[in-house]
Amino acid sequence: MRTLAGARVLVTGAGRGIGRAIALRFAAAGAAVAAVDRDFHAGFPGEPAESVLQQLAAHDVDALGLQCDVTDPAAVDATVDAVLAAWGGVDVLVCNAGGGTGPIHGNKASEVDLAALESALRLNLFGTVHFCRAVAKPMRAQGSGSIVTMGSINGLESTEDGGYAHYGVAKAAVATYTRYLARDLGPHGIQVNAVAPGPISTGRLRARYAEAGEEITAPGSALGRAGEPDDVATVVEFLAGPHSRHVTGQVVTVDGGLLRS
Ligand code: NDP
Repeated sequence: MRTLAGARVLVTGAGRGIGRAIALRFAAAGAAVAAVDRDFHAGFPGEPAESVLQQLAAHDVDALGLQCDVTDPAAVDATVDAVLAAWGGVDVLVCNAGGGTGPIHGNKASEVDLAALESALRLNLFGTVHFCRAVAKPMRAQGSGSIVTMGSINGLESTEDGGYAHYGVAKAAVATYTRYLARDLGPHGIQVNAVAPGPISTGRLRARYAEAGEEITAPGSALGRAGEPDDVATVVEFLAGPHSRHVTGQVVTVDGGLLRS
């Protein structure tokens, strides 16, 4: 059984928000954590003042901080090579880096901005694909591993007003890639799952809603509230840990009951 204590975990987009919560969650479980981000700024207002690297240093675990733009395949290969050189393998990959640009009600499907669509695909889909390709070989050689990708409920259902279509399309592609990858890597002992959060109260999202004069809420959700980064980290930890050994190819929503089935 794969335990997280001592596991070698790589988390992308670990600099802030949900990725930071995930990296810290694995460190608290005793895993070695490679935090990957394009920069390691302090958080947005309401987020911790220390960088994630300072926070990881407070845990008694092996931690690496690696600067990498996930949209650059050569940089991704170099990052994975650096982790392999340090640790000899990767047990868990969390492809968290992602997001969308532009106003939250903009980019309706009929008039979607092509540059925004392309950049959403480059970041969310290609950023995920580059890392999955790079770790697949060492994980296959190990005969074990767990990959968790970051979808969104926007990739499963349209937003109520039809806005942010570029992002929804990119996240739908992440979910589909995840299912194909699970089929491909399952015979090699590797699990692949996605989480699909609803609105999560990160500093960046709060700032984006504030630009529109709104607050993050989840009206119509069963629990009636937005989630916290830790709510997502909990599910990622489960999917990467020993208690999910028979779960693969799934897209697990973490949305307080926003999507209706
Ligand atoms: P944040 O913007 O708060 O954090 C994302 C982190 O990823 C930042 O540190 C960011 O760096 C980094 N990053 C962005 N682009 C790149 C890149 N090209 N290469 C390397 N690192 C990069 O986002 P969230 O924590 O809110 O989101 C995390 C994931 O969860 C994303 O995939 C998002 O789409 C998904 N998600 C979020 C939801 C939410 O409500 N917050 C809901 C559903 C899904 P920098 O600060 O420099 O931009």
